Amino acid sequence: MDIQTRDETLFFEGDWTMGEGDLILTPIDPSTGEVLGQLRTASAAQAEQAAEAAARAYPGWKMTASSERATYLRGFVKGLAKRQDRLVDIQMRNNGKPRIEAEIDVSDAIATFEYYSELADKLDARQDARVEHAGNEHFGMVRHEPVGPVGMIVPWNFPLVTSAWKIAPALAAGCTAVMKTSEMTPLAELVYGEIAQEIGLPAGVLNIVTGAMAVGEALTASRAFRKISFTGSNMVGAKVMEAIASRCLPLSLELGGKAPIIVTEDVVIDHAVDCIIGGIFFNAGQMCSATSRLLVHRSIESDLIEALIAKTESLVTASPFAETCDMGPMTTRAQYSKVREYLARAQADGLECVTGGFGPEATGNFVPPTIYRNVPHDNPIWIEEIFGPVLTTTRFETDEEALTLANATEYGLVGTVVSDDEARARTLANGIEAGQIWVNTPQVVYPESAWGGFKSSGIGRELGPWGLAGYQGVKHITSAN
Ligand code: NAD
Repeated sequence: MDIQTRDETLFFEGDWTMGEGDLILTPIDPSTGEVLGQLRTASAAQAEQAAEAAARAYPGWKMTASSERATYLRGFVKGLAKRQDRLVDIQMRNNGKPRIEAEIDVSDAIATFEYYSELADKLDARQDARVEHAGNEHFGMVRHEPVGPVGMIVPWNFPLVTSAWKIAPALAAGCTAVMKTSEMTPLAELVYGEIAQEIGLPAGVLNIVTGAMAVGEALTASRAFRKISFTGSNMVGAKVMEAIASRCLPLSLELGGKAPIIVTEDVVIDHAVDCIIGGIFFNAGQMCSATSRLLVHRSIESDLIEALIAKTESLVTASPFAETCDMGPMTTRAQYSKVREYLARAQADGLECVTGGFGPEATGNFVPPTIYRNVPHDNPIWIEEIFGPVLTTTRFETDEEALTLANATEYGLVGTVVSDDEARARTLANGIEAGQIWVNTPQVVYPESAWGGFKSSGIGRELGPWGLAGYQGVKHITSAN
């Protein structure tokens, strides 16, 4: 079955259905503009039907042994591995990811299901942990119970991965789910429906709907859910919060960032350059975790910038299907236009562009890897999330100054420190107000890590035991001795 040409684009109640929404999605290849398929989205009524399917499936799924849920999660591991080539191809085509990056995404999704299958295996044994209470009259028992059916909404930049980070822990915990794919990249996640059907996941446990804002709104309006898990922009995250506020529904938010990378004067320049490049040009900078603000010690600034320009200019920006491709296009035309608006503004503001920058409009969504040096701290490109391959730089004198600059942002998702002094690196890492810090490494995310933001970068954590806990409620039973 070729998912790109299938007419049935909704998976709920364990089977495929035709969308009845007014909107038809036309995912494109961002390198060429070629339309990859047509998918009719869910109607609002179908989104509600999917939510009700998840609610009906919940009591049965909740009661399964956690080891049985672990077995299904391993089914997803096998299903993803079996479809590796197709999933890599879909992401190269629909996201414009270089092959190596598309492969990393599939591996990350697999690792996530593997990790949560292991946690699920141990879950029942962790139930009813005894708690002694003072006075010996009572004792307590703690249970970790699923929160219930969950509505999940995801963006387009890492379609397989952001969804795996939600589906795997939710199913492990005993929750059922409806996932809405991004309207820009719906092809990859439909595969989760295929796998659910193949492994005989009980009907309604996982439901996938395609759609844009209207379907997202239908999900956040549904009374069938007991939690909403959202990954996307701050603007839409706020709308999701508002939509569910009157019901006080639990919510997790994985939002945007404008992360710092601090480089001290004692580093090996080439290593620092690799960390900087990995943090801003991977996925063409379309990362919530992009370290888009470089803070470098004044004494090595010109050497570092020189090496950074040389390495940046050696990167090949091309279609992932070209002979060489280090960086692909922006995934959507809207994102391409948004990034270009920032570049045009930077040019108008007379910022010092040392490589890349604003140029003629291209047919594919290609933006050159771009660096602005000595950017004023009140300029929008220093302050706002651009979500593209645009690095801004500044200099610092003291570590206190570096931390003040690093933390002068509404965001707090991630940060990176590059320093040869271990103690200093630790102090800087501790001083950055963010949920994930990398020290002396380009960005790596393990399933055991915590993922989520401080400040306006989000609420809650994905991955690790915290990701599982996000789909659980703690119940304390107090009994007489
Ligand atoms: P977006 O907020 O525009 O869309 C996200 C999802 O919300 C899409 O599925 C969209 O259809 C849906 N949506 C739109 N309006 C809605 C509404 N009113 N109600 C409910 N759902 C609605 O984000 P995007 O452009 O797809 O993704 C880019 C953003 O995602 C960036 O800001 C990035 O930082 C963020 N992001 C964060 C993380 C993280 O882990 N923190 C990971 C990836 C992306």
